[in-house]
Amino acid sequence: MYGEVVSTETLTPHLIRVVLGGPGLDGLVAPAGADSYVNAFFVPPGAPYEVPFDDDAVRDLPREQRPYPRRYTVRSWDADQQRLTLDFVVHGDVGRAGRWATHARPGDRLQFRGPAGDWTPSPDADSYLFVGDESAFPAIGGALERVPSGRPVVAVLETGSAAGELALSSPGDLSLVWVHRDGAADLDTLLVDAVRGLDPLPGVVDAFVHGEAASTRAVRRHLLETGAVAREHLSCSPYWRRGLDDEQWRAVKGAWTREVEVEGDVPA
Ligand SMILES: Cc1cc2nc3c(=O)[nH]c(=O)nc-3n(C[C@H](O)[C@H](O)[C@H](O)COP(=O)(O)OP(=O)(O)OC[C@H]3O[C@@H](n4cnc5c(N)ncnc54)[C@H](O)[C@@H]3O)c2cc1C
Repeated sequence: MYGEVVSTETLTPHLIRVVLGGPGLDGLVAPAGADSYVNAFFVPPGAPYEVPFDDDAVRDLPREQRPYPRRYTVRSWDADQQRLTLDFVVHGDVGRAGRWATHARPGDRLQFRGPAGDWTPSPDADSYLFVGDESAFPAIGGALERVPSGRPVVAVLETGSAAGELALSSPGDLSLVWVHRDGAADLDTLLVDAVRGLDPLPGVVDAFVHGEAASTRAVRRHLLETGAVAREHLSCSPYWRRGLDDEQWRAVKGAWTREVEVEGDVPA
């Protein structure tokens, strides 16, 4: 499956929206959840093939010519217009995917598999807590739109500075808490410190904590240790790791996840 860039939009200094369309999206299965993502493939410059390519044919190429996989959340899918919207974090002139989004022009193609992932805010929860950095804004933006009308929902969102703040809305009773990396002493604790400062949310809290690995780990541990959120109501995922590219991160992610899974148990 592949899409052709229809338009791009700079949402903030950190986020670029890319809208894909075209016949390569025929048959796309509608994303099931707020966090549904595609596994997109970024073709290195000079590679001897173009999108659409045959997965099997590129598998045996030298590493530097094979496509680089990266996961991107489906911000929205308009089945009538056949438009797929992805929001990319751009982090300087680094990153296969970030760079692709920075330079994307109408007609450029992006091949992908998916979507997969089906988390959505539970309609039975009493309140909601969504926490993340820009990589999770697409999922959090979609989750906010799915919160039942009038229910309390708090989103704690990390970005570089005030210029990185997005206009987000929800039918729920929404409080947005922005935290800024600029001037912060410790990036790993920025989000958890903001979460610690929140007033308790009422009743059963459904929580979604996705984004940078160390930051989400700290928030997860805090929420479980304090009992603010029950394990079965917590969706937590380390999307990326500061200082590592995606290949390096995937090489250690399994071990990281196993360590994290045993954290946060409340002592008996
Ligand atoms: C299920 C899932 C859904 C995701 N959805 C999205 C999404 O919708 N939008 C999105 O932008 N990302 C999303 N991500 C995260 C994204 O896949 C990674 O951040 C990926 O590493 C970016 O690839 P890259 O090629 O741009 O950078 P890489 O080549 O992987 O990394 C290059 C450098 O940039 C750093 N870096 C990577 N990501 C970030 C970041 N977010 N902020 C600052 N520095 C960074 C790395 O640590 C490294 O130093 C998602 C991840 C998962 C697992």
